[in-house]
Amino acid sequence: MELTRRDFLKLSGAGLGVGALTTLGIKLPALASTDGLRIAKAIETTGVCSFCAVGCSTIVSVLEEGGHPKVVNIEGNPDSAINFGTLCSKGVATIQKSYIDGKLNPERVTKPMYRAPGSSSWQEISWSEAIDKIAKKVKETRDANWIAEDDILGADGNPTGQKVPALRTEAIGAVGSAELSNEGAYLYQKLMRSLGVVYIEHHARL
Ligand code: SF4
Repeated sequence: MELTRRDFLKLSGAGLGVGALTTLGIKLPALASTDGLRIAKAIETTGVCSFCAVGCSTIVSVLEEGGHPKVVNIEGNPDSAINFGTLCSKGVATIQKSYIDGKLNPERVTKPMYRAPGSSSWQEISWSEAIDKIAKKVKETRDANWIAEDDILGADGNPTGQKVPALRTEAIGAVGSAELSNEGAYLYQKLMRSLGVVYIEHHARL
């Protein structure tokens, strides 16, 4: 829009007039309005950011949409003594794991994917097929690389001929996940230890 000098003076006069009335304590009705907040009717629950081991607390707002719950907002929880309402850039983007611009994230992997040796593409497989494959690989690898006992070394660093039970495999590594709950992480650790796995890490430390 092009403003003539006369238009500009009129607008400036109106602005000054409004400013003067406000200064005199005369309240004018607010003319501007915004759309309703998308979280106005949402159910709020607390959550924990799943990206790293800091464990910042979040407030998750969920709306019912087409009979299904839909997360519409995730923000920092001001009542948390860990993050006092703040979230880092990863935490702020947590919602994008599920939704981008209000639509389901098409990149989200929801089914087990398998890439055969030598293949450059992934194929979808069933959960039972995936679990069978993993169990078979774990057993093969563990059996082939089982360390039943270790030598006890003498002060000179040479084996004394005495042995000590080792019961471990060094051929399997385990990477846990911040996506697991406390209980899930505990069970994961138990499972790995019971298999004799000693290289147990967590993705937030990598
Ligand atoms: S990724 Fe960021 S927001 Fe999430 S727990 Fe870690 S520090 Fe907190």
